[in-house]
Parts: sequence; C-alpha cells; structure tokens
Amino acid sequence: MTEGTESGPVNVGQVGDGEEWEAAMCGSGAAGEADQQLDAPVYRTDEFRMYCFKIVPCRKKFSHDWTQCPFAHPGEKARRRDPQQYKYAAIACIDMKKNGTCPRGDSCPYAHNVFEYWMHPTR
Ligand SMILES: [Zn+2]
Ligand SMILES: [Zn+2]
Repeated sequence: MTEGTESGPVNVGQVGDGEEWEAAMCGSGAAGEADQQLDAPVYRTDEFRMYCFKIVPCRKKFSHDWTQCPFAHPGEKARRRDPQQYKYAAIACIDMKKNGTCPRGDSCPYAHNVFEYWMHPTR
C-alpha cells in the first residue's frame, strides 16, 4: 500500500482578511462552541469590545448569566447595534432616556444604552 503519499499542505484554518476575519474573531463564524469561553483572550481586545461585544448573538443553548456573557441575547437591554452597520453617535438618545423606548428603533442616530455609548468607535 503506497497510498499515504499525498501529504500536501492542508490549509483548513486559513482565514482571509476582512469580514471573514471579523466573524472568526467574534466567534460567530467557523469557531466552535468551545470558543465562547468567557475568559478567552480575544474578548479582552478593543476590537472585540467595539464590534462584537453584545452585538453578536449568543449561541449558548444552556441558561447562563447574561451579564457575564459578552454576547447579545434576545430581549437583553444591553444589546448593541453594530456601529459599522448602524450609524449612531456616541450621544445618549433623549427618547430612550425619557421613555425607555425609542420610536426610531434601530435606525436612531443616537446611542440607546450605556454600552452603545461606552464602546462607541469614536471614543
Ligand atoms: Zn450568552
Ligand atoms: Zn433613539
């Protein structure tokens, strides 16, 4: 048997730049569930905080403490809009402050919670 000769390069883990890279960094792409560990170093980077924290939907199937989890959850108040997708300023929305809700919804040009404000790219 000489069929084990094909030992060429196996570039499985290759990640290009751009969107693919971001998805992998956020743990929503090719990364497995094991990558959603809370103490992973990637969660401490500015890039993650700015573009992934409370933006990428959580994929954990078991119940856990949302406040300790860096991902977004259905109905969670801390959920952020992606600053790259939605153009909003690092200014607190008046409607949100007054009424706790905003008629402009996701298309509102102002920050809807402290996380959107704190982790805004302009800050
Ligand atoms: Zn979670
Ligand atoms: Zn608003």
